[in-house]
Amino acid sequence: MKADLVIRNGAVVTPGGVIQANIAVKGGRIVGMSSGELTPDADEMIDAAGLVVLPGGVDTHTHLREPGFTHKEDIQSGTRAAVAGGYTTVSGMPNVQPITTTVQRYLDLIEVYAANSLVDFNHNPAPTRLEEVQALADAGALGFKIYMITDKGTDYPHMPELGVHHQGRLFEIAEEVGKTGLPLMVHPNNQELLETLSDRAIKAGDTSYQTVAQLSASYDGIIFDSAISYLCRMQEVLGFRLHVLHLRSPRSLEVLRAAKRAKQAVTVETNPHMLFLCNDWEEIERLGPYALNLWNGPNTTDLLWECVNDGTIDVIGSDHAPHLREEKEIGWTNMFVAANGTPKIQETLPLFLNAVNEGRLSYTRLAEIFSTTPAKIFGLYPRKGVIQVGADADLVVVDPNKEQVLRNEDMLSKCGWTSWDGRRVRGVTVHTLVRGTFAYRDGKVVGKPGHGRHVKPAREKDRLL
Ligand SMILES: [Zn+2]
Repeated sequence: MKADLVIRNGAVVTPGGVIQANIAVKGGRIVGMSSGELTPDADEMIDAAGLVVLPGGVDTHTHLREPGFTHKEDIQSGTRAAVAGGYTTVSGMPNVQPITTTVQRYLDLIEVYAANSLVDFNHNPAPTRLEEVQALADAGALGFKIYMITDKGTDYPHMPELGVHHQGRLFEIAEEVGKTGLPLMVHPNNQELLETLSDRAIKAGDTSYQTVAQLSASYDGIIFDSAISYLCRMQEVLGFRLHVLHLRSPRSLEVLRAAKRAKQAVTVETNPHMLFLCNDWEEIERLGPYALNLWNGPNTTDLLWECVNDGTIDVIGSDHAPHLREEKEIGWTNMFVAANGTPKIQETLPLFLNAVNEGRLSYTRLAEIFSTTPAKIFGLYPRKGVIQVGADADLVVVDPNKEQVLRNEDMLSKCGWTSWDGRRVRGVTVHTLVRGTFAYRDGKVVGKPGHGRHVKPAREKDRLL
């Protein structure tokens, strides 16, 4: 057999550990993994000596802003940034315009992805119209997303139509989503308490970014933690698959660890900013609105890394959420009305590669949180999320030793800036392949819009998590 492509001599990150192997690709799939003479001939040979090959990233939490907010980002620009960041599958969130709450809107959006995406894709609609939920699942939605939050002084990105704050309504939504077998992704928040504490600050004339960032950690993080307690308790009685987003606070981790010990169907996401930005008060002070509007609270760094390594945290979602500088600048004086969210899809992998170099986690664990576990939770495994024979040849080849400085001008997102401008990291994306085709090669985007395919989750019985 002659392969289309062989990647030779790389250190390949597999579920069993890092092995030296040649990867043969044919028809978009991995058809062989071997060493030495066993490697088939191929039309193209790539030498990856000294490089590390990871499964392509599966990002189940992106905001690519299309349709409705394409001045910030669109599917094409966002997936160009994604391949530079080693992602080969992305799934979008419903806060676009029109918001994705119906099957028709979901299918319309899938068509826009199909025409424009460089990577494989799906979307997570909002299950706020109960009568649409089952049909959305049947149409192939990856999961559902609920926001327990709306913004205080602005109606984007947490749109009023999407916010669910009534506990009974949330209960009915969880019941309905439970019938589909798909995960319910939730942004936890106690909206009433957030509003009370926000109003208190606004009334006192304090709209500073420092105050807004501290709100999230105030009173020992109760705004966040109390929502997670309710979600876990609700999961226990209803049995739906709960996927908790934005993990950051020590007390909520205790609740989630208990739920996991009790074998509840609870999985947990954190984001690059929780480990590289919102844990660092000096950076929040320095960056103002170009950080996020939240602080984890004191001394969370080591604890969060412990959770990454012990499995309390299952996945990293980039939560790529770009806004233009013009939409951020107001935050220097009034953070309540500044657009909330930051770009990250290109920066996440280099930040984590640097963390591997610092000894914070292993390549094997990085592959799990970046690719394998999200693919398992969302029913895409073993087609996605793993380097093994039979899987899609979604691969990211990185240079673990090369240093780079993250720079605003190198960011491919339309917003053109990064919170990590000037940050020196060790670890660089060299190539990204989507089903065996180069989407990023030698540091340049070469992928074509329209290459991406709609990837649907496996039915319940075929799922591994
Ligand atoms: Zn998000």
